[in-house]
Amino acid sequence: MDIILLGTGSPIPDPRRAGPATLVRAGGANILFDCGRGVVMRLAGAGVLPQQVTAVVITHMHSDHVCDLNDVITSHWVMSPRPQPLAVYGPVGTAELVQATLRMLAPDVGYRLEHHDDLDAGPDVVVTELAPGDAARIGACQLAAYPTEHAPVRPTLGFRITHGAAIAAIAGDTIPCEGLDALCTGAGVYVQTVIRQDLVRRVPSRRFQDILDYHSTVEQAGQTAARAGVGTLMLTHYVPPLQPGAEDEWRALAAAHFSGEIVLGDDLTQVTLAD
Ligand SMILES: [Zn+2]
Ligand SMILES: [Zn+2]
Repeated sequence: MDIILLGTGSPIPDPRRAGPATLVRAGGANILFDCGRGVVMRLAGAGVLPQQVTAVVITHMHSDHVCDLNDVITSHWVMSPRPQPLAVYGPVGTAELVQATLRMLAPDVGYRLEHHDDLDAGPDVVVTELAPGDAARIGACQLAAYPTEHAPVRPTLGFRITHGAAIAAIAGDTIPCEGLDALCTGAGVYVQTVIRQDLVRRVPSRRFQDILDYHSTVEQAGQTAARAGVGTLMLTHYVPPLQPGAEDEWRALAAAHFSGEIVLGDDLTQVTLAD
């Protein structure tokens, strides 16, 4: 199983970082977690064309995590040589998000159907809404949904993806909570979106300070990783943006609490687990 950080950015525009998205490749499936800014470009960087995406899994509907879902839907549809459905999993509300996205895309779908004789149907997006405790099978992989805490955003889910002996926990945006601990327990890789509390506190903006109460800090990610006994902690969604050369400084904050491997870096940073 490969776990690839496609986009390590956040809502803050960064010329070097795409928005939040993580790719899990296992058992022949390409499973895309979230669809942040530039996700289709980074998928290509990982060697995956849109029509090769097996399923999209949404953690929550904050715009930075879903803003390029429309690009995934359109590119998957137009680049598939034969009609093939796109599976989308997510919390309650995902079906409405997909329907609204398809309404937005309706003019484009119309142009392409009129222009291409061999295209006679629009995008076929098959949505499955999941609640905490639900599970789904994606190819040879097992997906399980866990409750996370990112209030006032509700609902939010973290996902455990299993293929053979490989287990990855994709936490999404959340503060430490029981659901997160359960999600991560015994995982080979735990991917956590993080903020640097010390740096955010220095920014004199009320709106920026607001983010402190609903994200894991780097230290908290290390504490969760230690409690859950994970093998590798992967940090992503760096707020403020991780500056070149600052990787060790960020890593040290988590390493004060967690003695396992800590991985962070640029877009397309990858960890491989034995299946
Ligand atoms: Zn969020
Ligand atoms: Zn976010």
